[in-house]
Amino acid sequence: MKDIQNQQLKSYNTFMVSALCDRFVQVEEDGEIPRLWEEGIFGRPYLVLGGGSNILFTQDFHGTIIQMCTRGIVVIEEDTNSALVEVAAGVDWADFVDFCIRNHYYGVENLIGIPGRVGSSPVQNIGAYGVEVKDVIDSVIGFRISSQKPFALRNEECAFGYRSSIFKTEWKNDVLITRVRFRLSKIPHFTLTYQALSKELENRKLELTLENIAALVKSIRDAKLPDITKIGCAGSFFKNPVVDISVRDRLVEQVPQLVSYPAGEGKVKLAAGQLIDLAGMKGVREGDAGVYPLQALVIVNYGNASGTEICNFYQKIQKEVFNRFGIFIEPEVNIE
Ligand SMILES: Cc1cc2nc3c(=O)[nH]c(=O)nc-3n(C[C@H](O)[C@H](O)[C@H](O)COP(=O)(O)OP(=O)(O)OC[C@H]3O[C@@H](n4cnc5c(N)ncnc54)[C@H](O)[C@@H]3O)c2cc1C
Repeated sequence: MKDIQNQQLKSYNTFMVSALCDRFVQVEEDGEIPRLWEEGIFGRPYLVLGGGSNILFTQDFHGTIIQMCTRGIVVIEEDTNSALVEVAAGVDWADFVDFCIRNHYYGVENLIGIPGRVGSSPVQNIGAYGVEVKDVIDSVIGFRISSQKPFALRNEECAFGYRSSIFKTEWKNDVLITRVRFRLSKIPHFTLTYQALSKELENRKLELTLENIAALVKSIRDAKLPDITKIGCAGSFFKNPVVDISVRDRLVEQVPQLVSYPAGEGKVKLAAGQLIDLAGMKGVREGDAGVYPLQALVIVNYGNASGTEICNFYQKIQKEVFNRFGIFIEPEVNIE
């Protein structure tokens, strides 16, 4: 276990904002976890961190940040139809997706290119191109922090929803996820419900293979998202708002091109990026904080924006969208 005092967090968050934390602990093996309680780490403010790609530090963190750096991908069982794979929390999501593609396990190819670590993937039920990680999660394993007790939750017990789970709601800040088990198909099947994907597949006349779908998703993403090695961001900053159909119908009278998707009985999901664009904020920059010109859902740090500047900027976007449409868009990113 690495244990560092006064750690600078700039290289531990993809927004690349500066912030210090009092103590930074990197857990490299599950066997080290009991020490976190023995050393009283959970008696003071703490935060469990993965790759820092869904977090905005708005101030120094006066407590301990625990980063999960455990490794290991193990196939627990396998038959002709599927494989059950257990992955340590600290494994990079990208490495896990590569592993699945190499082994011809189907199910996560549409989720290629999402930064972060496997342990964080259930927290907000990561999703992209018509697939959510809940579609392939078998169970989530870890510890409750308050009771120190281990838990293993089956998929249906995780309360997965759109960018949400029990780990982001009822159990928020009270879990240390150590491993995630995935049930992956060995029988070829693809999710091509997302229009941009199916259209591009047709345009490029590509054969339907795991490698081709993964490469296509990657190229579509790369064309519209910033390269996080150069420009700081945390992906989509806001969730797409879910509203009553009557609200959508009222808005369509003013904005006929308004996009919406079914979201359960009597509800529709609006595209937050479109609302931001229509509110005149796409491409707007204030200092080093800005809305990415190619994707209005993404707030970027062009260089030296502080967490507070980005925070003020996102609140301004919320206000503009609210004033224009009467809709409050909520951050998807965790604000600390
Ligand atoms: C360029 C870019 C593109 C993105 N695209 C997508 C996308 O398409 N779809 C999508 O859903 N997301 C996307 N994201 C957001 C982000 O990558 C995901 O939410 C990812 O799962 C976060 O992983 P992380 O390890 O970086 O989590 P972190 O940011 O480190 O943590 C996120 C949250 O999970 C908690 N957490 C982390 N690890 C653990 C653990 N082991 N136990 C308990 N709690 C934990 C943290 O406390 C925090 O609340 C994108 C981000 C970027 C920068």
